[in-house]
Amino acid sequence: MFLLEGIKKYAKTDRTALINRGERLSFAELDALSDAFAAWLLDRFGDDRTPVVIYGHKETLMLPCIYGALKSGRAYVPVDTTVPPDRARQIAEDVRAKAAVDFYDTGMVADELLNADKLREVLEKYRGREVSSENWAKGSDFAYILFTSGSTGKPKGVPIAVENVENLEREFGRFVDESGEEKVILNQISYSFDVSVVSVWLGMSRGMTLYTIDHEMVENLGELFENLEKSGVSVWVSTPSFAEMCTPSEKFDASLMPKLEKFIFCGEVLTHKLVDRLFESFPQSKVINTYGPTEATVLVTASEITAEMAADELQIPIGEPLGEVRFRIVDEEGKEVPEGEQGELLILSKSVGPGYFGRPDLTAKSFFFDDATGRRGYRTGDAAFRHGNLYYYCGRLDNQIKLNGFRVEIEDVENNLVKVENISRAAVLPVYDGEKVQSLAAFVLLEKPDGLTNLKRSIKIKEALREVLPSYMVPRKITAVESFPLNTNGKVDRKKLKELL
Ligand code: AMP
Repeated sequence: MFLLEGIKKYAKTDRTALINRGERLSFAELDALSDAFAAWLLDRFGDDRTPVVIYGHKETLMLPCIYGALKSGRAYVPVDTTVPPDRARQIAEDVRAKAAVDFYDTGMVADELLNADKLREVLEKYRGREVSSENWAKGSDFAYILFTSGSTGKPKGVPIAVENVENLEREFGRFVDESGEEKVILNQISYSFDVSVVSVWLGMSRGMTLYTIDHEMVENLGELFENLEKSGVSVWVSTPSFAEMCTPSEKFDASLMPKLEKFIFCGEVLTHKLVDRLFESFPQSKVINTYGPTEATVLVTASEITAEMAADELQIPIGEPLGEVRFRIVDEEGKEVPEGEQGELLILSKSVGPGYFGRPDLTAKSFFFDDATGRRGYRTGDAAFRHGNLYYYCGRLDNQIKLNGFRVEIEDVENNLVKVENISRAAVLPVYDGEKVQSLAAFVLLEKPDGLTNLKRSIKIKEALREVLPSYMVPRKITAVESFPLNTNGKVDRKKLKELL
């Protein structure tokens, strides 16, 4: 597998694999530690190929666990600390994990549960054990399973096979770097979001150094800028939201990151405003926009944004489909629409994954096999149109949104709200600032009067929600209503509710 081969190759050099808050991990050390973790998994569970859940954030030892799982033929299931323990435990249960690593002692359940101390003991004990490449995950074996917001109120698992990621490498690898030189790539995206694959797989396999930017740094702009300056970063990978967080500062320019060759963006709308700011402040750096859902392995388009695109009154394009990828834009009957017309974007590609984990019903709805191209297909739920070779994104056809780069199903929040004590019904609305969702607002119907002020009630509900939902999914504003406006179908009339915002 290209990723693990890359690590083996660079383990013979003195290259640095990871810089994490001043701590350095060499490729040689990473190779040895991941072999040790793989040897332990194989000793303990043999070749059963059950996924390994890893709960943590950007701890240095997350990487040996990720690569160790792959070296033992297992998929890794990264769960970020933004996910509350209850939801994390649910994920471990769903994938029937036998081994789990929990850097935060959240009470996860697995046959073998390692906290940070136990993990260190295991790595020490198995140090020096090499694992044959025969054991590595390959072909249609799952490489990772990521959990995204699901409309039922439970997260849904998206497994991606090794061969899917190999296709991403073939089609997109050159956009990351072609030089083979030792360069630094940003490691900011949580491992539980698919955009991290660009750094963790494509960056690593070319011997690049991951420079970690963790949650704490993101929350403290002073620390963040200090780290960006120290990083010596050549390749920036993030959602547009993260770059937008940096742009208000005057310091955010080429003198902060003089080696920066390119920004690679993925995951949400790239605005003209951001492109203009980057063109002005980083004249030597390219801006590459990419688009894709987790279900089709991170991204399936890429385009360098040109001065003409930036000047065009059309929105910034999501790019051209990568070499082997085919797009089809269809109307409600599934008929292809002419150029320039909007419809649902279908992706046909070797990057389209096997479906949803343990959910054949959901898989059948969104995934299909396309006889004409011999490729697997995925119905994105995204509205788009084509203009020449370029594709343009026009929003969602359902209630999924992006909030600060995070994918959220509105129904996920609603279904968890009605589980909160004394709430009988709930409706959640995205609050927009221009093209982007800025926050969520919820309206709730109480089962019985609670005598609380709206503020007190809102604090109580938010506390309850934080137990079950990642913090970014908790609505900023929660208002109790006496009744919901209904439309003629008897459904909540969201347009009327919007007027109450
Ligand atoms: P995720 O699975 O978290 O990567 O989310 C996938 C969804 O994010 C897509 O279906 C789109 O709705 C949205 N998305 C991803 N990339 C872009 C982009 N470059 N521009 C606009 N929306 C995007």
